[in-house]
Amino acid sequence: MSPSALDRRTTKELERFLRAELARLQGSVRAAVEENRTAESTSLTDMSVHAAETLHTEIQVTLVGRRTEQVVQIQDALARLTDGHYGFCQECDAFIGVPRLRALPFAQRCRDCQGQAEWRARRESVIAARMIPREIPLEAA
Ligand SMILES: [Zn+2]
Repeated sequence: MSPSALDRRTTKELERFLRAELARLQGSVRAAVEENRTAESTSLTDMSVHAAETLHTEIQVTLVGRRTEQVVQIQDALARLTDGHYGFCQECDAFIGVPRLRALPFAQRCRDCQGQAEWRARRESVIAARMIPREIPLEAA
């Protein structure tokens, strides 16, 4: 077994995991959407109930958004499995490594590139935060 590529057995194993995970996520997204539809049809009389429902809906929307993102990542990983790019870093083309793929089957980057990407994302969010004025200057009378 070569340490620089995936053997057939590991590939099959990861593919099975990805498909199962995809089905699970799609099922939970569907369930959340269904639940929302039911919640909308109930008449709301109490304001606090309404607030709770709104909060619940917001949490659901966040969860659905996050799960949809994961669904996209998994579909992407499955596409890469099909075209033979699976397991290789999308930035430096290095083999991601079996232990990392087992831990994160939809990883798109090797550990180093992922670290750099996260660092860039953090720096960008810091820069973006700095661009928002903290205080509105008082106008001179
Ligand atoms: Zn890399």
